[in-house]
Amino acid sequence: MNQHVSSEDNPFDAMQARFDLAAARLGLEPNLLGILRSCEREITISIPVVLDDGSVKVFEGYRVQHSTARGPAKGGIRYASNVNRDEVRALAAWMTWKCAVVNVPFGGGKGGVICDPFKMSKGELERVTRRYVAGIMDILGPDRDVPAPDMGTDGQVMAWLMDTYSMHNRAYLPAIVTGKPIGLGGSLGRIEATGRGVMLCTREALKHLGMNPKDCTAAVQGAGNVGLISALQLHALGVKIVAISDVHGGLYNEKGLDLEGIKAHLQKSRKLDGFDGGTKITNSEILELPVDILVPAATENVITSRNVENIKAKIITEGANGPCTANADKVLDQKGIFVIPDILANAGGVTVSYFEWVQDRMAFFWTQKEVEDRMEHIMVESFAAVVDMARRFQVSNRIAAYMLGVNRVADITRMRGIYA
Ligand code: NAD
Repeated sequence: MNQHVSSEDNPFDAMQARFDLAAARLGLEPNLLGILRSCEREITISIPVVLDDGSVKVFEGYRVQHSTARGPAKGGIRYASNVNRDEVRALAAWMTWKCAVVNVPFGGGKGGVICDPFKMSKGELERVTRRYVAGIMDILGPDRDVPAPDMGTDGQVMAWLMDTYSMHNRAYLPAIVTGKPIGLGGSLGRIEATGRGVMLCTREALKHLGMNPKDCTAAVQGAGNVGLISALQLHALGVKIVAISDVHGGLYNEKGLDLEGIKAHLQKSRKLDGFDGGTKITNSEILELPVDILVPAATENVITSRNVENIKAKIITEGANGPCTANADKVLDQKGIFVIPDILANAGGVTVSYFEWVQDRMAFFWTQKEVEDRMEHIMVESFAAVVDMARRFQVSNRIAAYMLGVNRVADITRMRGIYA
């Protein structure tokens, strides 16, 4: 499971392929390449947990810190049956570049536990979480490494994480994690932040391309935190959402989907299946629909050399991390598709996580409007900086975003020097 597999589908290779292109274009010195291409620290732990039936199951968990050059490592924790170490490494590195693109003072980290949260009871999830946190506690801390939710984890998991860390440290330490419930030091606007960032980037792209949101259609893959909220936010902008999916498949309606109905249905049954109001489509078909905007907001490697020729969207806003492979990038460029890369498009989440961390450390909380205004300012500026870099260097938006992020990390690494 954890062997390094070199293929189009290995996300760490995909990250390094883009990093190498950006580094070459920046003319980075060879000594820096070695540092920035690798992860600073990785741990793998065994997590023995007593299941509800009394048996003990040993889960495998990871925490990877790619870089702490610009600040504490920052990044989510993924609970999924197929999560693996190379995926976590890639996600950690993407966090480094993402935090640098939006210029928040964090490095990059990521965690994962191999488990299926949808098949576990609440008690089992709590025991896995607490034992995982206890196992990685030595490298966590508000000034060391600050986790957040990702696929398969939510505010409740973050609350258990905060409680476990605080109990061990005999102190109330909400800044150890972001994405917490509001009463526990969470930030207003955090739940919507990633989806809202997806909408803001798409809005800026539409302006840039001279397109009117009211004339546009969109398809969204994924109906979780990022997918559903992106769909709702784009709908509020005037875009007609014609398709959405979850892991089991999707729904299509060319007249536009009833998103509020879908939201209520998901809250009740946790899956799209069973909701009327559209035709069933597969997760492959949703990507190939003739829409203006495509938002892959589920998982990695969904647009690859195998299906990229069939993509018809004019704009791809990457809500998920790593939805397009490096091989697919080349064809997307040739087809002239305007790609808003993950490390920009979904950075609204980490931006408001940064605000949450700041508020926790001050114990002084902001209004929703303050959060939203500050976040919008950062997203709009970052979008403009990426598009400007792409124009000046004649590179794709993706390589421009990497260049922006990598250059900021490289600058700080040079300043700090090599500790011997
Ligand atoms: P989530 O668990 O809330 O939702 C994931 C959604 O994707 C669910 O609807 C699930 O059914 C669907 N899905 C899972 N595997 C799938 C597959 N193989 N094919 C199709 N659909 C599938 O997770 P999330 O927080 O919305 O995260 C989604 C993506 O966004 C991930 O790549 C994550 O790393 C990224 N992301 C999340 C945040 C955040 O703030 N939550 C921030 C930045 C990036």
